Formats: sequence, C-alpha cells, structure tokens
Amino acid sequence: MALLAICPERALTPLEEIRDAIIVVDGRRIVAVGRRGELRLPPGAQKYSAPGITVVPGFVDVHIHGAGGHDVMESTPEALGAVAASVARRGTTSLVATTVTASTEHICRAAQGIARYIAAQPERPPKTTPVAEILGIHFEGPFINLARRGVHPAEWIVPPSIPALRRYVDAAGGAARICTLAPELPGALDLIEAARTAGLVVGLGHTDATYAQARAAIEKGARHAVHVFNAMRPFSHRETGVLGAVLTTANVSAELIADGVHVDAPAMRLLLAAKGASHVLLVSDGTAATGMPDGKYRLGTFEVSVVGGVCRNAEGKLAGSALTLDRALRNVVALGTSLSDAVRMLTLNAARLLGLERCKGVLAPGADADLVLLDANLEVVGVMTRGTGL
Ligand SMILES: [Zn+2]
Repeated sequence: MALLAICPERALTPLEEIRDAIIVVDGRRIVAVGRRGELRLPPGAQKYSAPGITVVPGFVDVHIHGAGGHDVMESTPEALGAVAASVARRGTTSLVATTVTASTEHICRAAQGIARYIAAQPERPPKTTPVAEILGIHFEGPFINLARRGVHPAEWIVPPSIPALRRYVDAAGGAARICTLAPELPGALDLIEAARTAGLVVGLGHTDATYAQARAAIEKGARHAVHVFNAMRPFSHRETGVLGAVLTTANVSAELIADGVHVDAPAMRLLLAAKGASHVLLVSDGTAATGMPDGKYRLGTFEVSVVGGVCRNAEGKLAGSALTLDRALRNVVALGTSLSDAVRMLTLNAARLLGLERCKGVLAPGADADLVLLDANLEVVGVMTRGTGL
C-alpha cells in the first residue's frame, strides 16, 4: 500500500498547532505527523498538497440517534451504514449510536443489531467514500425522570434496574459504552456502580436531581453530563441542582448541543467558562432528519417534524436536532472560542471519555487516519475515515 503524505498549511493535533504540516498515512493509520522540513517526505509517498487548508482530527460524536433519513434503532446494516455515510460528509468520523427510551425488547433488539454491525465493520471503508466508524452504543434512558423526559416516551420509562441494564449490556455484546440516567431515582446509585463495573461511562441526563443528589452520583462514578441545560432541573442560586454540580465539579465532562436553538449563547458561554476546553464535548443529538430536507422523520419510537431545520415532536417539544458537527464548530468559534479549543471539544475530549484517545480524536502516529480538511471559513472540504476518502 502506497504511503500518502498530506501537506496542509496547518494541522491542529488538537493540543498542538503545526504550521506547514505533513501527515503521513499508511493504510488505516497515521504513521507520522510533523513540520515540513523537519519531517521528510518518505520515499515513494504520494503527496497531497492542501494549501490554505487546516487539517484536524475527525469529529467524534458520543450522542447521535440518526442521520440521512435513518435512525440507529432501525439497527439494520443498511440504516446504520446510511447514518455513518451521511455524517462522514460533514466531518464526523466516529460516533456512539444512541438509543432512546423504549421497551426492553426494543432496546435489546437495537443493541444486537448495532453490535452485529460494529463486529462486521471492515478495517477500512470498502469504497473510496468516507464512512464513520460506529464505536459503540449510548443507552439514553429508560432510567430517566418522567418530569424531565423531554420527548422520551413516558410509557417506557422505568425505575433503575440492574437486571435490565445487564440485558442491554449483554445484547450489546461488548459494544455498550455510555448509559444516561437520572441519579435521583430510587436505586440509581447502585445502578451507577453496576454500570461502572461493566465498563460503561455513566452520564447524568433527563434529570431533576438536586445538587446533593448529583454530587452523590458523581461520588459513585458518574463523570459525564448529557446535553447540559436541556432536560435538566434549572439552576437557582439557592438550590443549584444538577447544573450546580456539573458546572463546579472539574472532572465531570459536559455535552453541549451548540445549534443556537437548544441553548442560548450566554448559557453556552457560561458552560464553556465553567468547564474549560478540556471538559466540553460538542454533540449533535442528531436525528434521521440530519442532512435531509424539512419533513417528518422517526426518532427511535416516535415521529418528529422538522421545520426550518429544528426538530420537534407532536407536542412542540425539541426532539433532538438536525445539527452537524461542522456547524457546531463554527457556532462555538463564533462565540469567541479559539479554533484549537473548539476542535478539542469535537475530538480529543470525546475520545478520552471513551478511553480511545490513542486511536481516535488526535493526529498522532498510531492513531486512525480520521481527518477533516477545513478551509478558511471552517467549511469541510475533505474527509478521510480510517485512511479512506482523499
Ligand atoms: Zn436527550
């Protein structure tokens, strides 16, 4: 296999900025990253010149339900392949397929289908077009608070249950990555311990937890918060609630849906200031409507209507998004965040949450060749997934 040497104006690794960069790709992986002049073009390497371009790691989305007209709970190879191909066009090179609250049977069926797809993923995308890699499963619900359910169907919300969690984890066959739950529910603290023992990241979400209840969950090992500000008890200066705990506990990471609709700009600024560049994860919470025209789509078990790119359920509640992560990047940069910090929130932070920072979310030797090429306006002009696409 011929080596490919990509030569952009700069690269963001993302912790380091390299001017006049060279990124050498061999098959699926990056084998060298450095400055032209310091790192020589390997003999026989094919040169890919990218003047005026910034290369960053591919985006890692830990909260996404669908894209391109399909929902991950359809869980067929066709549906999952369509989601993975759709998001790759806008720079997402890996994702954690996210289920919504549904019956145990439905969640298990979806988990089995997603797990089968993951096991069958080839080392590299088979064609020349980029396709995102599905890294695992994020179970959003069913152990959530009815009062903060958002659009999750009330009929399938159940109290925390370790046997039920075991069924999901078994169905996922090693692909379970994240479990989002409301920590104030009876039995939630034991469930957090069980989920941590099973190797899952526990996310606080769809929760009405007080500050004390959220802190107790963090003590038990919850270290992530899902779409912060959305579907959470609001902040008050005397009872700061789950938000108070998330904003002031350094090692808890925070998801943000930066579409400008879910969270107003001042609240986004507050989150960025409180958590810093190392603990914010920009997520899409994307649905089947992502990358599609306005219309009606399915989100897990129910229908959503998309008008002007905003997804709502029949009651008019926000129901996920049609946000792509390249737009999230531009939105956060427009708030005054540096490009390297914004890129970090789309790449390394998510990879670290999953314990995958050696192969995902970074430009480094040994990492997967998941790359996004950005022009001066931060528009995506090229994508490589596991060495394929340029
Ligand atoms: Zn949600």
